Amino acid sequence: MTRKMQAAQVEQFGQLLVLRELDVPTPGPGQILVKTEACGVCHTDLHAAGGDWPLKPALPFTPGHEGIGIVAAIGAGVRAVKEGDRVGVPWLYSACGHCEFCLSARETVCAEAEFGGYTKNGGFADYILADPNYVAHIPALLAPRDAAPLICAGITSYKGLKETQARPGEWVVVSGVGGLGHLAVQYAKAMGLQVCAVDVDDGKLDHARRLGADAMVNARLDDPVAAVKKATGGGAHGVLITAPSLGAFKQGVGMTRKFGTCVLVGLPPGEFPTPLFDVVANCITIRGSFVGTRADMAEALAFGAAGKVKADTELQPLSAINDVFKRLANGEVPSRVVLDFSPR
Ligand code: NAD
Ligand code: ZN
Ligand code: ZN
Repeated sequence: MTRKMQAAQVEQFGQLLVLRELDVPTPGPGQILVKTEACGVCHTDLHAAGGDWPLKPALPFTPGHEGIGIVAAIGAGVRAVKEGDRVGVPWLYSACGHCEFCLSARETVCAEAEFGGYTKNGGFADYILADPNYVAHIPALLAPRDAAPLICAGITSYKGLKETQARPGEWVVVSGVGGLGHLAVQYAKAMGLQVCAVDVDDGKLDHARRLGADAMVNARLDDPVAAVKKATGGGAHGVLITAPSLGAFKQGVGMTRKFGTCVLVGLPPGEFPTPLFDVVANCITIRGSFVGTRADMAEALAFGAAGKVKADTELQPLSAINDVFKRLANGEVPSRVVLDFSPR
């Protein structure tokens, strides 16, 4: 008899997710089946369910790209993992492995990449099919609820900070101190950087201070750019914009020091105005950054295993997903909600 599982699916963009009883999938050749233990809820899942971006997932689909679990079955020919291993099924679900970007370890932009919880069903379900060559290998010291946020929010923040090219002792701005940003503050401190946290919520800024941020600026101030320039002595060497809000992007460019780099990772739909003269005359680099490679993943998880970075998590059952989405959209989630699949 076919085994059944629970999954929360998007059936229509912009509508509530629907809890469905689906068949547990069978791994084909080169695939693995992962029994979910925990799955973080990323703001990207909201964009996915809203159909916010130009490339839309096919309906219906199961979101979730911070799924952690145990390999329950392996398909023919699988050698990269074995049954019983703890793995994570990330946003970069798979890539071709042989294009110019894959060959140069820049596989996140592979034209044939598949995305977990987007073009492939993700972790808002009891079981996930995965590609064993692209799963995250979870260090033994990390519990599932602690590992989950690291495989998207963690890796994206860590890689984005590296892409600012800020060096120890220099300033970075972390704009948006939610799921990604509260980890970015911790990675930045562990990397020896000085951190100026920017958010619209005083509670989030207070949290950033407790996590080690050296300065805090509320983006709702009259002139947050001037406040950041004052706090950092002329602007930050690196700016990481995680805020899912277009207003943060123009501000972030203004907060960047001469010859500094402003890295964009937040993905609100739309465009933002770029003050061309300032960017040119101040020699500013504006750069996009998209999750991270498998090597970045191992590094990002190692910070967690070493106790240098720890996500603040709130556990919720899968059945609470629509309430969690609502709170996340309203900015009411303090850091990261993790869906808990452990047996009750
Ligand atoms: P979140 O909702 O947990 O956190 C967002 C934070 O931004 C909140 O603290 C909110 O108060 C703050 N904020 C809102 N408006 C702001 C403003 N104008 N200025 C400063 N702060 C503001 O979201 P998250 O899960 O951290 O995701 C953030 C964004 O990053 C989303 O758009 C998501 O899709 C994107 N993302 C991108 C990548 C990538 O690879 N580039 C990966 C993961 C997530
Ligand atoms: Zn994500
Ligand atoms: Zn490729």
